[in-house]
Amino acid sequence: MRVETPKLRKYTSELEEKGIEFHGHGGPFMIIGLRVGLAALRALDAFGWFEISCSVFLPWSPPDSCVIDGIQVSTGCTMGKHNIEVVEELGVAAEFTSGDKWVRIQLREEKLLEIKEIFDHGDDAVREYMDNLVLAPVSKLFRIEFKNC
Ligand SMILES: [Zn+2]
Repeated sequence: MRVETPKLRKYTSELEEKGIEFHGHGGPFMIIGLRVGLAALRALDAFGWFEISCSVFLPWSPPDSCVIDGIQVSTGCTMGKHNIEVVEELGVAAEFTSGDKWVRIQLREEKLLEIKEIFDHGDDAVREYMDNLVLAPVSKLFRIEFKNC
């Protein structure tokens, strides 16, 4: 038995709640993960869960690695299905393939620095910043490279 409804391609409060429930808390990096996954599904025109695979490139420790859980929730690429892998690297990026399509989504360096900095400004500032991340245009957050092989 397989899921028959495609993964959402838009950011909704329902998706965010699922992310928080899965991950245990909502943070800027988890939200980035949700948005990376949504951008990937849109770029690849992918259904989600199956016939898609992902490599995530980042330092494999929180808070950066919270991105991984956001990607798992939004795309259905999961550790259990072995269609997601993590490659320890500086920065935050993810590559996805689906059929003959490939996309690389990289968090812009200035955004990464901004996120790192916001943690020094207390919970209220972080919460407000997270609201901004939800609403920010994709092009402000990410550098996206797409190939149809
Ligand atoms: Zn986290």
